[in-house]
Amino acid sequence: MINFFYTDEYLKHDTGQHPESIERIKTVKKLIFENYESHNFLNPPLANKEIIYNVHDKDYIDYIFDNIPDTGFSYFDPDTVACPNSLNSYLCAVGGSVEAVNQINLNKNKKVFFCAHRPPGHHAEKNKAMGFGVFNNVAISADYALRSKKFEKILIIDFDVHHGNGTQHIFENNPNIFYASSHQYPYYPGTGDLTEKGCGNIFNCPLPANCDSKLFRKLFSENIVDKINQNFDLLYFSAGFDAHVLDPLASINLEDEDFFWITKKILDKFANNIPIISVLEGGYDMKGLYNGLNNHLKVLQDYSYE
Ligand SMILES: [Zn+2]
Repeated sequence: MINFFYTDEYLKHDTGQHPESIERIKTVKKLIFENYESHNFLNPPLANKEIIYNVHDKDYIDYIFDNIPDTGFSYFDPDTVACPNSLNSYLCAVGGSVEAVNQINLNKNKKVFFCAHRPPGHHAEKNKAMGFGVFNNVAISADYALRSKKFEKILIIDFDVHHGNGTQHIFENNPNIFYASSHQYPYYPGTGDLTEKGCGNIFNCPLPANCDSKLFRKLFSENIVDKINQNFDLLYFSAGFDAHVLDPLASINLEDEDFFWITKKILDKFANNIPIISVLEGGYDMKGLYNGLNNHLKVLQDYSYE
């Protein structure tokens, strides 16, 4: 059983002519409500500022709240655009990611969550919006989980085609949160080299342009799966589908089945009956997003508990 966080608020975060479009969440909505209709659907609550203050600078958060436009658009960076309804979308995306932790703590049988939201968050730095995202949904949720004292060691697997600079920077000195990312490199946002290791908790897997399935699986196994040998009590996916061969924003050539492979490979090694929170990041070709996500969810739905 997958517990989905979704709300139609995400259909109101208008970005104009932009790859991070309303069409994306319509595609995701169609997939989850048609193919996974027997699963559990929850409304994400609006996150409160205090929880976001734990990860992002207060001045930055206040700046975002104060600069949502009354009409038209405002830009928090050249790629990151807000309309009058965007704040609700930002706060629901954080709120669902955090509420998944509460639900796990309240009900041990609810252990697999997928947060179907927008915008993505893994580029958002402590004090800076970047790459379509304003608040770092995964980082705020993982920080909240650690503060709840119910979890001691957390693993974040990020298979979005872009490096999650924000998530890495937020946690690079935190030995209780491991961050592993596969991404095209060199490429936007410029970080994610093999030599960036944090306090021994960062595992980067750079991928050359035009990397195909075979090379991807080899590099992902060597740099992430084989290198991390620890036990974790909570697993996150920063689940982006822009490494799909059809995606227009990057040049990695993954096929639909590679998203099944990644998910299964990680679960087989690390998900030893622990809860999983998967959070949507990128994916800008509608067919690539639909098929990639469907393959990711196929593995999550089969993950069962005693
Ligand atoms: Zn991306």
